[in-house]
Amino acid sequence: MGPKNAKLFEKLTGGPKVLDILWHLPVDVVDRSAAPKLSDVKPGQVITVEVTVDKHAPNQRKSQPYRVWCRDESGEINLVFFHMGKAWLEKMLPVGEKRVISGRVEFYNGTPQIVHPDAVVKPEERDEIEKLEPVYPLTQGLTNKIVRKAVKGALGFIPTLPNWLDEAYKKRNQWPDWHEAIKAVHFEKDTDIPVKARTRLAYDELLANQLTLALVRSRMKKKSGREFKPAGMLREKLIKALPFALTGAQKRSLAEIDADMESPLKMLRLLQGDVGSGKTIVAALAMLNAVECGAQAALMAPTEILARQHYEGLTPLLEGLGIRVIALTGRDKGKEREVKLQQIANGAAQVVIGTHALFQESVEFADLGLAIIDEQHRFGVHQRLELSNKGKGTDVLVMTATPIPRTLTLTAYGDMDVSRLDEKPPGRKPIDTRLIPIEKIEPMVEGLKRQIANGDRVYWVCPLVEESEKLDLAAAEERYDILKHWIGERVGLIHGRLKPEEKDAVMQKFAKGDLDVLVATTVIEVGVNVPEATIMVIEHAERFGLSQLHQLRGRVGRGGDKSYCFLLYTGPLGETARERLSVMRETEDGFLIAERDLELRGAGDILGVKQSGLVFFRLANIEGQGELLAAAYDDARLIIDKDPELKSPRGEALRTLLYLFERDQAIRYLSSG
Ligand code: ADP
Ligand code: MG
Repeated sequence: MGPKNAKLFEKLTGGPKVLDILWHLPVDVVDRSAAPKLSDVKPGQVITVEVTVDKHAPNQRKSQPYRVWCRDESGEINLVFFHMGKAWLEKMLPVGEKRVISGRVEFYNGTPQIVHPDAVVKPEERDEIEKLEPVYPLTQGLTNKIVRKAVKGALGFIPTLPNWLDEAYKKRNQWPDWHEAIKAVHFEKDTDIPVKARTRLAYDELLANQLTLALVRSRMKKKSGREFKPAGMLREKLIKALPFALTGAQKRSLAEIDADMESPLKMLRLLQGDVGSGKTIVAALAMLNAVECGAQAALMAPTEILARQHYEGLTPLLEGLGIRVIALTGRDKGKEREVKLQQIANGAAQVVIGTHALFQESVEFADLGLAIIDEQHRFGVHQRLELSNKGKGTDVLVMTATPIPRTLTLTAYGDMDVSRLDEKPPGRKPIDTRLIPIEKIEPMVEGLKRQIANGDRVYWVCPLVEESEKLDLAAAEERYDILKHWIGERVGLIHGRLKPEEKDAVMQKFAKGDLDVLVATTVIEVGVNVPEATIMVIEHAERFGLSQLHQLRGRVGRGGDKSYCFLLYTGPLGETARERLSVMRETEDGFLIAERDLELRGAGDILGVKQSGLVFFRLANIEGQGELLAAAYDDARLIIDKDPELKSPRGEALRTLLYLFERDQAIRYLSSG
């Protein structure tokens, strides 16, 4: 295909590769076998008939339809076109000639018509119209016909692959072979969806996912861990220094972490806690276990800003205990970086806080005992592994604020042990959340001005425009200009295109109170902590995922003052959209929100997974196929128990499966021994 179509296919299917196209499954199938006489057609019927073109009735104005009158021996039909060139239509439907047309019939003033027929071909090309035509999800610029052609082309490339399924299981389910399955899902033999073929492909995908996680886990667990049995002096001191008491959930999670760190097995734990649930202090206390025993601890954040914030928040606490903390990010260069690397390598740095710069090969730890990874959904499975590989038997704690429902936890983390911070620190006031139609923006801003005069600070998050950073930016800049005009000079703008230093500078100004309003694209999504910010405005809230809205809302309500979240929407809202936004008004429970979002939208959207690289299933449908997932989980564990290196014939076939789903990383763990 040409570069233009390749781009569109990438947008539609995730890539122009053969498999990307083959995994783009039809959502429906149209039966085009009906070929009635025109006098017999019924409203709503899809027909494929041979007609003679009678006359063209071009439109007088652009907004009017262009009609082409056709007939057979029994009656008439109109073909109706909007915004199509006259010359082109005359070429496609020459007066006096016969054409075969296909499309859905409707009636207008008693005459049957087809608006934009799906196919118009010469009588001798009739076979080009498929009797049963699969219907694919499309994107602007790609027609079903083009997608269909690409699918047919792609099918020509598929080889016969070895079977990676358990034979008995496959037989019991009456599943077809892989290549049969992939053909079946595109060439429907009747109007029913080929359920068995689809289920089989979904299972393949889930198995690849579970097998990857099982491999990673077995690699991690195989290396035995360390036994950290600190007396707890440092912890005692730190807890005494805190201005608050730990919540029950924090204590419980810490006890679970302590038990893991004490045990000779490697810790592989997920600390799941909603925004503001107090994960950072749990992380700090866990680090003390390692440090007190003479080992190092590392904390990795997904962004510079967040790494800095952790550094600034934790350093006073830790240095108060006489612990040496350093920050390492991609921004450290030259001499300074050298010095830091040395301190990490010789153990002078006891706690290291940074970004993924910590992964780099040049970073060597003297003795990394605990690796903590914050806001993990931005990192991939292999990155987790890499950081922990920087030490011997390093314990791993992953922290996530994404409230992932149970089923999804399994797909994302396999059987990592989970601690949950399901209790918020006391004293938080609920965030007053309101839905506001965009027409009411001016009175809302008037209200904001009064609140700003009282010392409140405002985040203003700008619309997420369809996968385009450039458009996001344009929208944010426009809003920024307007708000400056309305509110005054103390308005700042932050977005993904700024250099890290520039982002920091703006962020600092907002944190210090030199700015009243911070206009942002979604870059502030992760972790930022400005307790004085009490108002969150989210524009085009209807375009965000609920979990994303929840995360954004979590940026306010961090201080003692009452906070607000204004969800600006552009109507009219559909029923689902309205329901979704109402969920935000009704609850602040991240898990509940995630569950509702899953019900209302589906797994793909809930996590914004396309951006996050977490779990993105093309073929499986987690909401409906929980049992299949459980089966894949069991299967994967059995496979790894029996054949940990994937060396048996089935193991070899499973390697192919992993390649198909681009789980090459997992295969590399196998070969790296
Ligand atoms: P998150 O889980 O989103 O990372 P943080 O660790 O940033 O949450 O904590 C949010 C805020 O709550 C911080 O200001 C922190 O000092 C405070 N905090 C944490 N634990 C408690 C507690 N037990 N009681 C009161 N405040 C707490
Ligand atoms: Mg945090």
